[in-house]
Amino acid sequence: MTTQNYYDLLGVEKSASFDEIKRAFRVKAKECHPDYHPGDTAAEAKFKEINEAYEVLKDDQKRAAYDRYGHQAYTSGMNGAGGASGFGGFDFSGTGFESIFEEMFSGFAGRARSAGEARANRGADLRYDLEISLQEAYDGLKKSIDVETYVSCDDCSGKGGKSLEQCDTCGGYGHIRQRQGFFVVDTECPACNGTGKKVKDACSKCKGSGRVRKKRTLEVNIPKGIDSGVRMRLSGEGHVGLNGGPAGDLYVFLTVKNHEIFEREGANLYCEVPIPMTTAALGGTIDVPTMSGKTEKLEIKAGTQSGHQVKLKGKGMPILKSSSFGDLYVSLKVETPKHLTQRQKELLKEFAKESKEETQEACTDFLSQIKKLWDNI
Ligand SMILES: [Zn+2]
Ligand SMILES: [Zn+2]
Repeated sequence: MTTQNYYDLLGVEKSASFDEIKRAFRVKAKECHPDYHPGDTAAEAKFKEINEAYEVLKDDQKRAAYDRYGHQAYTSGMNGAGGASGFGGFDFSGTGFESIFEEMFSGFAGRARSAGEARANRGADLRYDLEISLQEAYDGLKKSIDVETYVSCDDCSGKGGKSLEQCDTCGGYGHIRQRQGFFVVDTECPACNGTGKKVKDACSKCKGSGRVRKKRTLEVNIPKGIDSGVRMRLSGEGHVGLNGGPAGDLYVFLTVKNHEIFEREGANLYCEVPIPMTTAALGGTIDVPTMSGKTEKLEIKAGTQSGHQVKLKGKGMPILKSSSFGDLYVSLKVETPKHLTQRQKELLKEFAKESKEETQEACTDFLSQIKKLWDNI
């Protein structure tokens, strides 16, 4: 068996239609057909590889299995890499979905089955990345998202066709045995996904797979107080399963964008509010913005220093699944006046003349500290 990707072997895109695959196969097969290259073993090997690829890609069920499990599904029995147990875990390999969509994990748990027992495979889970504003996270919202998933085919009620017949790849057994050195390895039949059965009189709409791709609009309820990194599960909104298996889940991964004024840390918010020097010195009231859209009156004590932090209790973000709120921490930033008029300058000079040691304590203390330092030298 070849180790090369079947699509690459035929030189087609993963999204290629059946006709494109057939055309590519004919061209490639002609290039290395043994009739045209008698005795050429390289051409013969290539011809076998191309046939192997075409055998899988021309068959909707085999192709779906190949897309889903990857090349390993067809080669694990030969090279022993991973084997059937390698199907679990995350698979971000992508199967031609829009960029926001990634196949998350196959949703398969290995389980022993007896021959012929039908296996209903759970559909794959999907991921959707959603970015919201801090305001939306504060208010909570209903958001419509567009997803494209496999859904059950209406025409055949998801059965894939009128009736079932025995799978000729595994002889109805559901698994195939392959020799691997001294060992014989038992793997699930990729042609029938282990059911041992194949669809007869395949439905023309879904080509026997029992499911079709469909664009759907889903409504997501985003609760108040949600934060970045939260993963919301929409149960049963992923891909529908194979052989009547249940649908996978859709996971919405949330990111909350940064805000122009507020910084968030958990349920608490932080912001910096500038205040005039005169308000800082004399005291007064200022308006502080909050996420509720209203402003809060904040009392400024006379002699407030720049960087002083005030806590506004309950004015932060809503706490998820509760009716309480975090706090808002306001850092006051005293603004030094600029562009002074002649009169203002005179007043401030006058003010400076009037200043005593205790008017600006920190400055006085600092100067005396420096003086001490110099005196000691
Ligand atoms: Zn089979
Ligand atoms: Zn159908």
